[in-house]
Amino acid sequence: MKKVLLHICCAGCGGVCIERLQEEGFEVLGFFYNPNIHPPEEYLRRQQDLEKLEKEFSLEILSGDYEISEWFNFIKGYEAEPEGGRRCGLCFELRLRKSYEEMKRKGLDFFTTTLSVSPHKNSRLIKEIGEKIDKDRFLFRDFKKKDGFKRSVELSKKLGLYRQNYCGCLFSQRT
Ligand code: SF4
Repeated sequence: MKKVLLHICCAGCGGVCIERLQEEGFEVLGFFYNPNIHPPEEYLRRQQDLEKLEKEFSLEILSGDYEISEWFNFIKGYEAEPEGGRRCGLCFELRLRKSYEEMKRKGLDFFTTTLSVSPHKNSRLIKEIGEKIDKDRFLFRDFKKKDGFKRSVELSKKLGLYRQNYCGCLFSQRT
């Protein structure tokens, strides 16, 4: 059975991606690495629901380090970009690069991400970045297809998952 590391941005998006990858026959290891999330209370809130996914789908989800300074350094100069602009491409890239490193450390076959579930996120850009990192080992899936976002909402209701109302970083936060 091929093993894939799934970068998980939040539990709400994670369910449908795990479900689909398991249906395809992959063994899935989750990886929550999101130093973009602000403030820390929000980070913990998104992280704490991962246990529900672990129980529902019988998988393990690891958490990476909450490297806030690294994220701010990585997106430096693009703070004022609108959502969907160049800051977001860098934000995807840092999270995918760290996921790739974790995949290699764990000896898995592929890596992918839940980021493509969101209708607000550019799946083509996610594909480009993943393939730039390693085109043979990035398992691109456009999880928003086949009503993926709708299914993520259904699973969130069923499992009682927290669903945030902003993307995650300080700059996307609505006050
Ligand atoms: S809006 Fe979302 S994807 Fe874009 S930089 Fe902020 S957290 Fe990252």
